[in-house]
Amino acid sequence: MSLKKLVNEIKFRTGTAKCTEYLELVQRVLDGQASRSQEVYLKRHQKMCLKCLERFNIDQEIKKLIQLKLASREVPEGLAEAIKTKIAKSA
Ligand SMILES: [Zn+2]
Repeated sequence: MSLKKLVNEIKFRTGTAKCTEYLELVQRVLDGQASRSQEVYLKRHQKMCLKCLERFNIDQEIKKLIQLKLASREVPEGLAEAIKTKIAKSA
């Protein structure tokens, strides 16, 4: 662990980190890369800080939208029909 990470870890653990530093945790949690304790630190802060809670909710919504968009791009129009036709023919 780098010194910077260690310092941040201590800040989060003691609840002395700034909101801008919690934003980093928000991204990590949303990306599923945060440790269990990091999630706890963020949730603890969000109980006291509406700004960070709102930020988390907004980013979560944006992430969902992006995932939906990516998912629909992976299935181009007509592909589902083409697969159905193939299955029908092979049956
Ligand atoms: Zn905050």
